[in-house]
Amino acid sequence: MCVKTIVTTSVLKAASFIRKGETVAFPTETVYGLGADCFNEKAVMKIFKVKGRASDNPLIVHIHTKSQIRLLVREITESAYRIIKKFFPGPVTVILEKNDLVPHLVTAGLNTVAIRMPSMKFTREFIKKCGVPIAAPSANISGKPSSVTWEHVQNDFKGRIPCILKGPEVKYGIESTVVDCSVEPPVLLRPGKITLEELQRIIPEITLVNKSSKIKSPGMKYRHYSPEAKVIFWNTENRKLAADNENSAYIGLNKPDASFRKIKICKSPEDYASSLFSFFRECDREGFKKIYVQKVQRTGIGLAIMNRLDKAAARQ
Ligand code: AMP
Ligand code: MG
Repeated sequence: MCVKTIVTTSVLKAASFIRKGETVAFPTETVYGLGADCFNEKAVMKIFKVKGRASDNPLIVHIHTKSQIRLLVREITESAYRIIKKFFPGPVTVILEKNDLVPHLVTAGLNTVAIRMPSMKFTREFIKKCGVPIAAPSANISGKPSSVTWEHVQNDFKGRIPCILKGPEVKYGIESTVVDCSVEPPVLLRPGKITLEELQRIIPEITLVNKSSKIKSPGMKYRHYSPEAKVIFWNTENRKLAADNENSAYIGLNKPDASFRKIKICKSPEDYASSLFSFFRECDREGFKKIYVQKVQRTGIGLAIMNRLDKAAARQ
């Protein structure tokens, strides 16, 4: 359905759409989310439909205060308690066994629910005004890079969502870390801003998900984060081919020994992580056909960068 999208800075106005059973795109410190009342199946269905999201890919439920966790779960495990105490509100999502109130649609039929409390005050103010926890995946067409500005959201959905809440600038530009706390020891399903090392400081036994355990995080099997342009890892073999090609762009931490029409040298791994999706979207807008990306070490935030780059490059 084609509707006109209202772009507003009013959390009250945006919340009124949620209360009517509509969807709203909203900013968080990680990326923009596309939200609906998590207890309203009809509203949640609209998210899957407009994103083109597979029904076996569960959503993250966003809360404004820790007390809302009790509305969603059977129990809070010891490891979840530690993560919540240290990192909530913040860019980390915990997975716990769900209660009967959470619709199966939200959790894609799983008996667990993913929960996050954003650190952006504006987001929490919006969720508070909604009066219910908000189920929200990233606000992009499935398979595309996540949206880090309201214009990215507008560009993806082109009038097919009723409301975009425009707020403070997204801080991290990369999705939350997802930790499955329904199992012991907990498993890191998706690396993000909160690193494996930071988590291991409070739960030493935590491990990174095994690549072959597909059932654990259904979303991981889908094509993700891909711009229209082909994403290629920068290395010595492709150096000659890439050089001076006016259809190619480059992003990395170090200057490559080849020239590109568009090039972004990031100041730090954190800068690389937060610039990646915007850079992909800019390259598409400017018609680039290939994006060369520099590999980084899989430690700290580097683990999240490589996770996104591997998926973006896997499509081709
Ligand atoms: P998105 O918000 O678009 O970044 O997607 C949410 C991510 O959280 C996806 O990778 C999902 O697979 C993952 N997720 C959400 N709920 C669960 C759950 N109950 N168990 C495992 N992974 C989940
Ligand atoms: Mg997503």
